Amino acid sequence: MAPKHQAPRGTRDLLPEALGRWQWAEARARDVLARYGYGEIRTPMFEDYELFARTSGESSEVVQKEMYRFKDLADRDLALRPESTAGVCRAYLEQGLGGRSRVHRLWYMGPMFRYGRPQKGRYRQFSQIGAELIGSAAPGADVEMITLFVDVFEAWGFKDLVVAVNSVGTPESRRAYAEALRSWLAPARDRLSADSQQRLEVNPLRVLDTKDEGDLKLLHGGELGALPHMLDHLDAESRAHWDQVLAGLEASGIRHEVDHGLVRGLDYYTRTAFEVHDRTLGAQSTLGGGGRYDGLIEALGGPPTPGVGFSIGMDRAMLVLEQRGEGAPAATAGVFVIAMDATRAQAARLVRELRREFVVEWDVEAKSFGQQMKIAGKSGARMALILGEDEWAQGQVGLKDLTSGEQRAVRREALVAELRASLAAPAEAAPKRGA
Ligand code: AMP
Repeated sequence: MAPKHQAPRGTRDLLPEALGRWQWAEARARDVLARYGYGEIRTPMFEDYELFARTSGESSEVVQKEMYRFKDLADRDLALRPESTAGVCRAYLEQGLGGRSRVHRLWYMGPMFRYGRPQKGRYRQFSQIGAELIGSAAPGADVEMITLFVDVFEAWGFKDLVVAVNSVGTPESRRAYAEALRSWLAPARDRLSADSQQRLEVNPLRVLDTKDEGDLKLLHGGELGALPHMLDHLDAESRAHWDQVLAGLEASGIRHEVDHGLVRGLDYYTRTAFEVHDRTLGAQSTLGGGGRYDGLIEALGGPPTPGVGFSIGMDRAMLVLEQRGEGAPAATAGVFVIAMDATRAQAARLVRELRREFVVEWDVEAKSFGQQMKIAGKSGARMALILGEDEWAQGQVGLKDLTSGEQRAVRREALVAELRASLAAPAEAAPKRGA
């Protein structure tokens, strides 16, 4: 019989086996972020709809089609966050961070919500981990951000990453480029997809984001000649910035290649844009991306404040690690405590005591000794601790190595030290959980 309730379309339950990998990845990312001197920020999962409409752009796909927008009981116009940069910048202004110090290094992690069409690597609730460096316009800030971005992936075991980079200049230089792109595409206008034809009118740069096969062929197939490049339309300052970012990436040993199709249409994006892909994911190949957003805080009503950041899609990164069988830490093997009827009460106290230091399981259902031994064998625990009535009365417990089968009596006072030694020693052949 089908269960009465199912998780909403595009959402998933993550069970303990899968979460082992997630927690491992989260912990490693936290370590990298801490070593770079970034502090965590947690902002609400919903904000005023207006905040996202302003920062993602009224005409953007996210705002037009993908927003979880709702009214609360007091008729406030709210939305679940589709991304976190808007919330972080809102908090930066609201909390007056700019007045505390000039430069802020922040990171966040958590669920985001977009009403897209669910498919592999694309969900309606998904998780991102991201960082923002607010307050510095220097090319060195972009380089630090890209380096941090790559180092998070490397901490997860990704090797030989190549970061795609481009510069989107300033709003003014972008307008000149948009015109160049529009005229370049004009002869093929009628053959573009309906979506791209509309984008060509409103925001030609967004045509470059198309997933339509026909459009891609027109863009990159050579029929119209070479695609005009944003880099050829940069203003002098953006050009100098770009050159310094490239030099910084070289100096830091970050592998990168220019992707002329990597653009961002919104006015507050400036200069550097970057992304990494993993082609094994198929259509949803972008693992993460970022860039500079020097106009964003001003667009939110704050003083002109430069910023640069990235976000990584955790779900996709975890899919890749899972495909490669990487990042699954061995389950912590511990102790299984086996009690008799006569020692059950003492066992309860001992289990609680041992759980201050060790991973301890025991049978809460007061099963027979034989059944408890069986469960212990299947549990994945390294050691069984057997609380026999006579031994307990003599101040001893039985300690059995479940890998080798060896068993010995241990004095109660020496138990903790014995367990530390036994659990630290490498197992000959670690028993598999549930084997
Ligand atoms: P964006 O905020 O659109 O630049 O997305 C940053 C990253 O989040 C992407 O590179 C993806 O890895 C991930 N991402 C975006 N949308 C989704 C989604 N619907 N499901 C899963 N991951 C997503």
